[in-house]
Amino acid sequence: MIIMKFGGTSVANFEAITRTIFIIGGKLDQKPVVVVSALSKVTDLLYRISDAAASMDVAATKEHLDTLRKRHVDLASELLEPSPMHKDAAVKRVNEICDALEDLAMAVCAVGELSDRNKAIIISNGELLSSTIICHAMNAKGIRTGFIDARKMMITSQSYLKGEPIVDEIIARVPDAVAKAYEGMDAVITQGFIGSNLNGEQTVLGRGGSDYSASLIGMAVDAERIEIWTDVDGVRTADPRKVPNTKNLEKISFEEAAEMAHFGAKVLHPLTIEPAVKKNIPIYVLNSMNPSGKGTAILRNELIEDGVKSVSFKENIRVINIFSMKMINTSGFLRRVFEIFSENKVSVDLISTSEANISVTVDASEKIDKVVEELSEFAEVVVDDDKSQVSVIGKNIVKLNGMLKKTFTPLKKCNVYMISQGASFVNISFVVDREELTEVVCDLHHHLFEQPEELETF
Ligand code: ASP
Ligand code: MG
Repeated sequence: MIIMKFGGTSVANFEAITRTIFIIGGKLDQKPVVVVSALSKVTDLLYRISDAAASMDVAATKEHLDTLRKRHVDLASELLEPSPMHKDAAVKRVNEICDALEDLAMAVCAVGELSDRNKAIIISNGELLSSTIICHAMNAKGIRTGFIDARKMMITSQSYLKGEPIVDEIIARVPDAVAKAYEGMDAVITQGFIGSNLNGEQTVLGRGGSDYSASLIGMAVDAERIEIWTDVDGVRTADPRKVPNTKNLEKISFEEAAEMAHFGAKVLHPLTIEPAVKKNIPIYVLNSMNPSGKGTAILRNELIEDGVKSVSFKENIRVINIFSMKMINTSGFLRRVFEIFSENKVSVDLISTSEANISVTVDASEKIDKVVEELSEFAEVVVDDDKSQVSVIGKNIVKLNGMLKKTFTPLKKCNVYMISQGASFVNISFVVDREELTEVVCDLHHHLFEQPEELETF
């Protein structure tokens, strides 16, 4: 059995879905479990619907709802034109889903209050719509496809908008659900991103969570392989939107992939690797617009060579500097500091400490007001905005001779604020001013990947 996850751009429209179904059709002998995202940009639109409804903007709510319905009805009609029975069934189901959404959105609009629970219901509709249409389209093309409602098997914690998977429940439910849906079928399809808590209430895994769903399902069925189909040729040495001459990586380790995802690379949801590692299931990142390309294989550590694989970055971060004389020669200070971050659910990326100072980085999207307030009760706190975090990632780079010199030599001209070497040996990270980020990552990438002969001389 294999998992084939298709992201929003791989199911964006008629052409993309046609291509995607062709790719699936070529792999039926491997028993695919297809996991789909919402059509590209649809989850954003659902967020806009929930925002407009929460602010009681009836006109905007209706307009967005109409856009959503029209896009899916048109797509179902276009894809299923040759099979009127499938077409009618799909359009009917799309309309039912849109009707229910409309009822909820208008009710929210009337009271102007949006709970997380209702928000989760609203934003989960993208995957329900896409999977419904694609399932019909696959059947219409002669691929007998069973439909699985992910909410019956993707069980998460209570949290409606950031449900954490309950792995034991998922392992207990997924194999049966898949086996049942497979009876008499060539393939099965389900939704990424969405799930439910133990009370049967709708939850979602958080933005971009479909990759994570795919990997959890792969773990639960002991898949041979997890394929993440996207719109780029695989994982690259840096983000090609910022850096010229990036190269595709043929293979990387689970650990390298996890670090890249955590430290800014946008190809995979950061939590995707973990379930695959548990069962040692290879993940392939593939391009549905170029299906014959090699993509990137993410494999266990022993199969991967030492050396630099990527220059990743997070463009917009903050540095929180915490100073206190009390830190000197006392114990328990760090615990107190990090308890505050943890209680306020603010996630910290890099940490560096000296005698009377701790500096940490957080994503600019984190809400830190409470953290700063609570820290200020016993320490001086200075927050630096408009910083960026750069990470050089690769197996054992921290142990390789001269690596620090190679990393910092191209940065002669700019200020470097925090330096942190991951204890895992795969990551050297530091902070620079945001306005210098582009130059820094381009220089660094050039230095590390385009002039390898020069490196040998260090
Ligand atoms: N549709 C969801 C999102 O846009 C999940 C995903 O695509 O992975 O966040
Ligand atoms: Mg994605």
